Amino acid sequence: MAFSALGLSESLVRAIKEQNYTQPYPIQQAAIPAFLQGKDIIGIAQTGSGKTASFALPILQLLQHKTARTGRRVKSLILVPTRELAVQIQGVFHEFGAKLPQKVKSLAVYGGVSINPQMMQMSGTDVLIATPGRLLDLVSQNAVQLSGVEILVLDEADKILSLGFKEEVDKILALLPEKRQNALFTATLGGDVEAFADKLLISPLKIQIEEEASVPELINQIAYQVDAAKKGPFLRYLLKESDMQQVLVFASSIRTADNIVGKLLKRGIQAAAFHGDKSQGARTDALTKFKAGKLRVLVATDLASRGIDIKFLPYVINYELPRSPKDYVHRIGRTGRAEASGQAISLISPEEAHHFKIIQKKMGRRVPMEPTDQLDLAGY
Ligand code: AMP
Repeated sequence: MAFSALGLSESLVRAIKEQNYTQPYPIQQAAIPAFLQGKDIIGIAQTGSGKTASFALPILQLLQHKTARTGRRVKSLILVPTRELAVQIQGVFHEFGAKLPQKVKSLAVYGGVSINPQMMQMSGTDVLIATPGRLLDLVSQNAVQLSGVEILVLDEADKILSLGFKEEVDKILALLPEKRQNALFTATLGGDVEAFADKLLISPLKIQIEEEASVPELINQIAYQVDAAKKGPFLRYLLKESDMQQVLVFASSIRTADNIVGKLLKRGIQAAAFHGDKSQGARTDALTKFKAGKLRVLVATDLASRGIDIKFLPYVINYELPRSPKDYVHRIGRTGRAEASGQAISLISPEEAHHFKIIQKKMGRRVPMEPTDQLDLAGY
């Protein structure tokens, strides 16, 4: 199936070609025509499934018919759990929307940075991508009006709710006009998500992209048995001997992440940490450099495991395993996306071996495990 068969305008189809998307992903095939017809949608899909374009493209098209400039009244609202996801989604709107006949202005707003620049950029915004807390701050300062919202999207709704934003979201919903189109995307229907979706959506089209299918086939997974105390030297051995560039390393705590970075820097390997203790500026800076290939190793906590879109990332290393199998899938989903193959490497200590078995069982994949006790790691 071609993108042109989904009901998208010629100018959008051209913009899609420029992004080198050759064929719509399953979620896009299902969601785009329904979205264009004004239907509510619930998408159960992971990051990596192509869900962002499945709502961004139809929204851009629907907003082509908008009337005069909007002032502070936004037409479409995308609620997201994290700043990183807000920035990423805005990037997608920008990429596809830049050359349309009717320019669509999108803006990402999120907490942790000064509110004034966001207030100043608000005028004429059509699509606002926001974290709930900052959006309410902007509303209370009268910087934005939500009474003209025609299309609402909740992305990673499970995460929004699990982060405790329910009250904020309810407040926001109360500010929206009753007549509007809604879409909700979530990785799972667990917790409060299903009940929440039931209340929000009217006869929605349900699109489910199986989790197994979205452990992308292109990811080559491998594990190494390493004692916890030897993980540092082994990581440096891997980086050096395999000459890996652009490596995303996951650690389970801020302290470990900082530790790994400190030791890499000491040995002359460019690295930066990416976690909740870093300022927004430091995080954006690290991510920009990493994406541009100017930073060899980014060491992140699970904050970074979702929603961050780094195209063609060749390597993800789990320095430690995450607690939940779902987080494991999200982490390794950073690689092997968009038709590029990638490698996911896990360092497994004897203490983690049992947990890793559980992860493999849940994922429905066996991961080959290599011993490392014969390696001479002295000097790494
Ligand atoms: P998402 O799940 O929205 O974060 O998208 C995952 C990745 O897939 C992003 O890098 C997109 O640029 C890419 N992508 C989305 N749709 C397509 C498509 N139809 N063809 C190729 N790449 C795509």
